[in-house]
Amino acid sequence: MEAGFHAIDSDWCRIAFERAPAPLVVCDSASLHVLGANACAGATYGYTPEEWAQADLLALFEAPDHERVRAAVAAAARDGEAQLPALTHIGKDGACLHCQLQCYRLNCDQPAPVLLAMQDHSDAAEAEAKLAHLQDVLMVSQEVTGLGCCTMNLTTARLTWSVQQYKNLGLEPASVMPSMERLLAPVHADERPAFALAIERCILDGRPFDTSLHLTWPDGSEHVLRASGRRISGDLSSPDWFACATVDITEECRLRDQLLQTESDLQHAQEIAHIGTWAADLRTGLIETTSAETYRIFRIDPGRNGKGGPFTLEQLFRRIHPEDVAAVAAAREHTLKTPGERYDHRYRIVEGDHEVRYVHSQADVVRDEDGQPVRIVGIIRDVTDMTRAEQEIERLAFCDELTGLPNRVAMCRYLDTAFGESRGLEEPVAVLTVALARFREINLTLGHLNGDDLLRDVARRLKAELGEDIHLARTGNAQFIAVLRGVRAYNAAAVAEAIARVFDTTFLVAGVRYEISAQVGIAVAPGHARNPTDLLRKADVAVYQARQGGRKTMMYDPAQDPYDPQRLALLGQFRNAVAEGQIELYCQPKVAMSTGEVIGAEALARWHHPQLGMVPPGEFVPLIESTELIHALTNAMLQASVRQSHAWRQEGLALPIAVNLSTRNLMSGTLPGDLRALLAGWDADPAWLGLEITESSLIVDPDATIAQLQALSSMGFRLFIDDFGTGYSSLNYLTMLPVDVIKIDHGFTTNMLRDRRAGAIVKATIDLAHDLGLSVVAEGTATREIWDALLAAGCDEAQGYYVAPPLPAHELPGWMRQHALRCGHAGAAH
Ligand code: C2E
Ligand code: CA
Ligand code: CA
Repeated sequence: MEAGFHAIDSDWCRIAFERAPAPLVVCDSASLHVLGANACAGATYGYTPEEWAQADLLALFEAPDHERVRAAVAAAARDGEAQLPALTHIGKDGACLHCQLQCYRLNCDQPAPVLLAMQDHSDAAEAEAKLAHLQDVLMVSQEVTGLGCCTMNLTTARLTWSVQQYKNLGLEPASVMPSMERLLAPVHADERPAFALAIERCILDGRPFDTSLHLTWPDGSEHVLRASGRRISGDLSSPDWFACATVDITEECRLRDQLLQTESDLQHAQEIAHIGTWAADLRTGLIETTSAETYRIFRIDPGRNGKGGPFTLEQLFRRIHPEDVAAVAAAREHTLKTPGERYDHRYRIVEGDHEVRYVHSQADVVRDEDGQPVRIVGIIRDVTDMTRAEQEIERLAFCDELTGLPNRVAMCRYLDTAFGESRGLEEPVAVLTVALARFREINLTLGHLNGDDLLRDVARRLKAELGEDIHLARTGNAQFIAVLRGVRAYNAAAVAEAIARVFDTTFLVAGVRYEISAQVGIAVAPGHARNPTDLLRKADVAVYQARQGGRKTMMYDPAQDPYDPQRLALLGQFRNAVAEGQIELYCQPKVAMSTGEVIGAEALARWHHPQLGMVPPGEFVPLIESTELIHALTNAMLQASVRQSHAWRQEGLALPIAVNLSTRNLMSGTLPGDLRALLAGWDADPAWLGLEITESSLIVDPDATIAQLQALSSMGFRLFIDDFGTGYSSLNYLTMLPVDVIKIDHGFTTNMLRDRRAGAIVKATIDLAHDLGLSVVAEGTATREIWDALLAAGCDEAQGYYVAPPLPAHELPGWMRQHALRCGHAGAAH
């Protein structure tokens, strides 16, 4: 302790002064000389006691602060105490300290000694600066995050709002005094009491809260705030606080609502469209989806929350129909291996023995930078209803409702496939067309319902006979078609016979047994046709041929097909043939069997086709008979015959020529007039001509035909019934017909020696004709043996190769001369 430093006079005061942990200095308030300094002051300012004794108080301060120091010391000397805010203090080594200075007057001496207590303020200043900085940061971050803060000092009940808190309430910062009322006011009335209670509980019980509040801002806009309240406990030195943080989540709520809405709309849409979405992680084999529809489609339990957790590919595969598993796996493999390929596959899923459903799955593969597949993302659609509808449409389009068999469309499809798969027709394909005879009649007699029953019965029997391997379809009202492929096609004829036998047993319709007959036409590719359309047509023709020939089954015979396309081409060319004189008259003589005398000739047409050469009438007459062209042929033949007769008569040969007529010629009604005009043109008479009418043409319209024939007969023409025995005409008509001659069909004549039935018919026809006063011509007298048999049977006239083939008309006189010579030598019967 320094000399003169007597201001502190008691021992304990001096010890306290000396040991105090803060720098203490005593100075003379008038001179500002340092009277004494404690150890801490020595350590702080770096002065030894000796140096303190020389020191002046002002030396511890910077010059600009000297006045303030002087004033503070003076004030303390006067008033007892004074204070100086934190100033920069200078130590001996020039180091600066930031200290606050408390000045106390020690006693009432004049001048009074003043005790200066230095309070180191460096840390506080630093903390203050830091605090200011933190406050700035806080404000910025509050502004950035929108986090408003409302704090309440629970000791003073003073409320503070951060700038952002004002904003969160829709207020200008610092525009109002913060208060609890102002905090609660904008909250919707129905939420306000609960919020007030939450604050109260938090303050009183320390119970924290987190809540959403709906607010109406002063500008009328609606907002949602998230508010969290906490009570912050202080200690002895600091008070308790209540803090409430708020953040405006209006936009967030709007987006969330929008998202939820979108999600629910999507779910709804997926539900309606039966579309589910999914994504499979290829590394884990897990399928993730939030799509309720995906769970529904796969019948996988989505779990308690209904949102569903991931399920495994394996789980999914267990749902796939066993027959489809391989195809699904293959399609998946293919997609994974082929970049850019979309997985697009339909398959069936089944749950245990439950119903089968159809799904359509489409997916894209997501690959990593190396092109390795990592995920598959796709949609799955329940297409059961659609598929069932398609199947039903398909069934209706391809099925015959009545019998349940495939219909014509389905058969054509099958046939197309069969042709497609027959490897360039290496394998044969056969079509068997089964046509029920007289079905219309049955329908009319028994009624449609019974007719339907009958058809079902026929279908059943055919199916039972043919088995599953042969495609059987109902292709028309009373028509069925069987398609045979490969080996079976070789046996088409045998199958046709088997089909025919199906009709050997009677059918029970409405309690009555009916005999049903059917014709089966057969056509086989590639022999008969090289495409389905042609094959079907030819099987149809074969049915027609079977019917014509009175047979149950018939293999297509090109020689008898009047509808062959080549023949149709002929039909077109025939128009010109007549005009261009390509039709030539041939004559086949008829001789009296008793004398061998030539008593007439039949006019037979020959077509000299410029490209095809000689076309026999059997190839073009049936064609043109169903058209108007037949009139052109008949006229041409009648004219040629009259011209020829005229020519022969010039040579002294009076030989009648019989011309063949068709049904159409008789039906036209103009024939008598035409013939009259023709004869008049050549000054000829009806005895020059004979007219041949086939027996079958008589039955088309017997009354009209008979009337026409009567007209012709009364004009003086000799009338022949051609092809007798083949037309099933009633004997009753025969007695009414004004005919002169019956021509026995060459079918009977040529067979009469080997077929007793044919022989009997020939004999009976001859006797019948004679009984009716008609004479008989036997066509087809091809051999000497036939000639003899006919002669023995009493036949009147003969025509046939044994006598002569049809000859060009101009050659006939020459032949006749030779014939007369032969007859002269060989007698009447050659
Ligand atoms: P059709 O009226 O029955 O004529 C007789 C057919 O028998 C002729 O055939 C004749 O050549 C053939 N024939 C002659 N002798 C024999 C024989 O010994 N054995 C056999 N198996 N056949 C013999 P073609 O000339 O080929 O005529 C075939 C058919 O064409 C004729 O049958 C006739 O229906 C029709 N036709 C021919 N020319 C005409 C015509 O000018 N007008 C009409 N409407 N039809 C004609
Ligand atoms: Ca004839
Ligand atoms: Ca004939």
